[in-house]
Amino acid sequence: FDMFVLAFVERLFRPTYRKDDFVLGKKLGEGAFGVVYKVSPAKKGPGMDGDLVLKKATEYGAVEIWMNERVRRACANSCADFVYGFLESSSKGKGGAYWLIWRYEGEATLADLMLSKEFPYNVERMILGEDQGLEKGLERENKIIQTIIGQVLFALDGLHSTGIVHRDIKPQNIIFSEEDRIFKIIDLGAAADLRVGINYIPKEFLLDPRYAAPEQYIMSTQTPSAPSAPVATALSPVLWQLNLPDRFDIYSTGLIFLQMAFPSLRTDSSLIQFNRQLKRCGYDLVEWRKTMEPRASPELRRGFELLDLDGGIGWELLLSMVRYKARRRTSAKAALAHPYFDREGLQRLSFMQ
Ligand code: ADP
Ligand code: MG
Repeated sequence: FDMFVLAFVERLFRPTYRKDDFVLGKKLGEGAFGVVYKVSPAKKGPGMDGDLVLKKATEYGAVEIWMNERVRRACANSCADFVYGFLESSSKGKGGAYWLIWRYEGEATLADLMLSKEFPYNVERMILGEDQGLEKGLERENKIIQTIIGQVLFALDGLHSTGIVHRDIKPQNIIFSEEDRIFKIIDLGAAADLRVGINYIPKEFLLDPRYAAPEQYIMSTQTPSAPSAPVATALSPVLWQLNLPDRFDIYSTGLIFLQMAFPSLRTDSSLIQFNRQLKRCGYDLVEWRKTMEPRASPELRRGFELLDLDGGIGWELLLSMVRYKARRRTSAKAALAHPYFDREGLQRLSFMQ
């Protein structure tokens, strides 16, 4: 059965929505290409119960709708639950905004949770639904961080296996789904679908420098910038092999891992400073550690201690993610098979549920 037929049939039976079906609530975010609101359905209907999220996007919203439709069919659990996307019909006949609707997954992104003094115990509470009342300590923190990074890699593996690179992986784009009790990826506004050649990023779009790998312009010079299916379909598996664009997301995920281990790297300014230090060390984390450790604060030392648990497998995984050369970085799938995730702790806080 062909993917396109499936998509068409699904489309036919899914309800469609219009502007008037939603009541605007609180503003959740505002970027260069759109505004995001919490909304509620004007009246009940299929798929119209509970809170929703609306993004009103500019012309690039068309690509984001395409990405979300594709994710829903191919790897639904990786990302926030997409409900519907459409072009707002404007009364003056000129092109209106694109409206994108998701289920409201919850109020906390990983960024919000990481900024809390309670991190990572606040996450454990949300995943397990209760306080375990266990003794706090490095081992337990390590297990929670393992679970979080495992969930992010699991979601990323879904995207990458589908042929999608996210390109804007950061704690602000990882939401905790209160219903499913797992982290999901959001914001496919900068994503590229390499299998069908959809890789549209306007020239003025800058990838977030805080989390971007050194190769910032993934494939943008080799691939056509606007959707052009036939040529790119034939080329993309080759390009994927040559460029390993998925490793861009792995680098960003490695930086998140680092921030979870080191509380002092969680603010924007300290992450920017870290990036400068790492660059000075030739993007060599081992070198960075050598320069930092002799004069490390107790807090920084504690981070190394956490990564050194169990013979340093956490540190080893981190090293395999944050590397200068994309082809020396691990893939999401290979990372999930790393011994760091091979422990009983994961069963309890299972990320596959
Ligand atoms: P932007 O392009 O503005 O970064 P995002 O898609 O990242 O747009 O959404 C902005 C913010 O809205 C997110 O950081 C998050 O706080 C919130 N948000 C987005 N999608 C959802 C969702 N499905 N459920 C709950 N909150 C969401
Ligand atoms: Mg975002």
